[in-house]
Amino acid sequence: MPSRSTPIVIDGQVVGIACSRGPDRRCKCGRRMTRLCDFALSGKKAGKTCDAPLCDSCAVRVGPDRDLCGAHAAHEKKTAEGA
Ligand SMILES: [Zn+2]
Ligand SMILES: [Zn+2]
Repeated sequence: MPSRSTPIVIDGQVVGIACSRGPDRRCKCGRRMTRLCDFALSGKKAGKTCDAPLCDSCAVRVGPDRDLCGAHAAHEKKTAEGA
């Protein structure tokens, strides 16, 4: 099967390209990824990390060697505030 790119459309605007797995993974904003989301998943995917491709500007740095995608950064912040 040929790999295809699917545009991510929000409110009629193309906000990014979702590609099938490949060496040139891109951040959802379309920039080249430079890091992966380090959020540790639980449940079915326990032991794995989110691994969402992130570029420098979309990654949220939460530690010396830890970066999260926007959704997981928000999730951690919420959890921290609730504690
Ligand atoms: Zn980005
Ligand atoms: Zn994530």
